[in-house]
Amino acid sequence: MARYDVIVLGLGAMGASASYQLAMRGASVLGLDQFHPPHEHGSTHGDTRITRLACGEGPQYTPFAQRSHEIWKSLEEKTGLSLLRQNGILVIAGTGKIAPSHGVPKFLEATVAAAEAWGIDHEILDGREIERRFPAFAVTDGDRAYLDRFGGYVRPEACIGAQLEQARALGAELRMGEKVVSFRQDAGAVVVTTVSGTYRAAQLIVAAGAWLPRFLEPALARQFGVTRQVLYWFRAKTPTEHQAFAPERFPVFIWQPSDAGGVFYGFPAVGPFEEGVKIATEGHDVVDPEIVDRTVSRREIEAMVGTFGRFFPGLSPDCVRAKVCLYTEVNAARFILDRLPGRNRIIVASPCSGHGFKHSGGVGDVLAQMAMGEKQVVLGADRHVVDMTHFAFRPDDPLWTV
Ligand SMILES: Cc1cc2nc3c(=O)[nH]c(=O)nc-3n(C[C@H](O)[C@H](O)[C@H](O)COP(=O)(O)OP(=O)(O)OC[C@H]3O[C@@H](n4cnc5c(N)ncnc54)[C@H](O)[C@@H]3O)c2cc1C
Repeated sequence: MARYDVIVLGLGAMGASASYQLAMRGASVLGLDQFHPPHEHGSTHGDTRITRLACGEGPQYTPFAQRSHEIWKSLEEKTGLSLLRQNGILVIAGTGKIAPSHGVPKFLEATVAAAEAWGIDHEILDGREIERRFPAFAVTDGDRAYLDRFGGYVRPEACIGAQLEQARALGAELRMGEKVVSFRQDAGAVVVTTVSGTYRAAQLIVAAGAWLPRFLEPALARQFGVTRQVLYWFRAKTPTEHQAFAPERFPVFIWQPSDAGGVFYGFPAVGPFEEGVKIATEGHDVVDPEIVDRTVSRREIEAMVGTFGRFFPGLSPDCVRAKVCLYTEVNAARFILDRLPGRNRIIVASPCSGHGFKHSGGVGDVLAQMAMGEKQVVLGADRHVVDMTHFAFRPDDPLWTV
């Protein structure tokens, strides 16, 4: 039986990044995935993901995003691919009743606090200034926005593909279409059983995305909730209106509008007129990744247009594409990057509560350092020391609730 330094279970956002970081450190790596990443069955598809350095979810995430930006830029140099575009981020809030974003009631204020904590240059715009600079947005009087020029978007499928390709070139063995059935830790190793073989390693990283809870004992699995999310692409009314959504004129945004009953977010047009503009809100239906309904109904599309259409008068109700994707959330939108209690050879990478892609390069770096037995985990060119207590399992945490 071959023996590896590290087995990585799941080669999506977190697993691809961990495999790449481990392979760069010279570790012998076996990566396993039930599908052929990048794919559309998990949490990492749909062309774009927002990236932002000032994180309303908490200042502890900024070093992960900064490190990820370093990684995306270095991968761009190595591969010639375009992975990261920093065209700016707007975090908009209305003055009426607003819904929380990632569990944070006042996301705009929390984003400002994170920016101030890290010295991230930003501006605060009033409604008139938002419309003057970004005419596609129909804000209402009293709306305010946080704006910085470091945020933007990342291309998830290309990032995964590039990291897997680099990992393989550095010697990682990647087995696609091979489902892991179980794993266990014995005296000197961890043993992983798949549908077609058994493998041993010194360390295992479990990065199984929405399938993670099924590998955990019930007390830990209950900390995670998998929810169904939908991404929508709406066509602009005319090719001329489409221009207002170009990345130079339209930053990524997160918007807590007044009295809309939800938060929504979106991206500039990354393709031609026919491919539309991507916007989404957050769903709360708890699902099982094996049997989730992956079709998007006409009713859902109409509800999206009815609730959020008025905020972009330049978009038509013509939905050219819609995709179902999965969040796996922990209470307070936390990340868990920790060893399984009582098992020092098994590291768990949570799917990061609906805001993980922007951090996934840095998460992979952290996972690689943990697996290689580093005493202190550091991130980025400035070697920021990560306080891992933020990312520990907390058995006394309130259970995740919708
Ligand atoms: C709609 C949506 C919008 C989002 N928007 C943003 C955003 O704008 N910005 C942001 O930063 N983040 C965003 N996120 C969150 C981000 O995409 C996730 O945090 C991240 O993609 C999770 O990656 P993962 O590696 O945990 O999961 P995945 O990429 O799904 O990877 C898990 C992998 O494990 C494999 N696997 C599972 N079980 C097994 C098994 N038994 N055997 C072998 N392989 C297995 C799966 O096949 C899969 O490939 C969004 C997520 C969604 C769904």
